[in-house]
Amino acid sequence: MNKVIIFSAPSGSGKTTLVKHCLQTFPQLAFSVSCTTRKSRGTEEDGIDYHFISPAEFREKIAEDAFVEFEEVYADKYYGTLKSEVERIWAQGKAVIFDVDVKGGVSLKRYFADKALSIFIMPPSIEELEKRLISRGTDDAATIRTRIDKAHEELAFKDRFDIAIVNDDLDKAKEQIVEIVENFLRS
Ligand code: ADP
Ligand code: 5GP
Repeated sequence: MNKVIIFSAPSGSGKTTLVKHCLQTFPQLAFSVSCTTRKSRGTEEDGIDYHFISPAEFREKIAEDAFVEFEEVYADKYYGTLKSEVERIWAQGKAVIFDVDVKGGVSLKRYFADKALSIFIMPPSIEELEKRLISRGTDDAATIRTRIDKAHEELAFKDRFDIAIVNDDLDKAKEQIVEIVENFLRS
């Protein structure tokens, strides 16, 4: 059966770290590369981490009905899941892994229903979230503030996911995720 795994979390919870761990552990998973109108940061590569496109290109894709879902995650920063990514990955006989915001996660679960496992990654606390964003060193102070403010609202989405995992000790969180994903892929 064609399957998808959805990861959502407030920014800084460790979602990207855990998604990368899953991709390294399970060769039968492939990452759905989203479109975004934000600029690339750090070592991110176009076509690998995201398709970095202009607002005009993003609007064109909306008009073409190219997205399964899209959200304005931050003011003027749009992110969208391409239908073509899901088709590309399923055509390889693999399961899709999504890294999306909490609203996108709820939309994808509704869309893929029984084909989907949705996982919510939680930070141990908002204070720890802030520390991680600061030590990651990829965002300026104003961006970090915006992300922290938004985290309160995002945590309220937890119960709309199949499973919630607290990423406190990273090794423990990795073990939990591997077990959950293994069971889902086997089911
Ligand atoms: P997200 O994708 O949710 O924004 P990242 O995976 O980029 O989060 O993690 C944010 C920062 O926190 C990174 O610098 C990462 O190395 C670090 N990190 C991830 N998990 C943990 C953890 N359990 N304990 C401490 N630091 C962590
Ligand atoms: P970042 O700018 O840190 O890469 O991502 C910001 C947020 O946007 C994260 O929560 C990330 O998961 C989310 N995001 C990335 N791609 C998509 C997408 O295609 N759709 C939605 N709804 N959110 C996305």
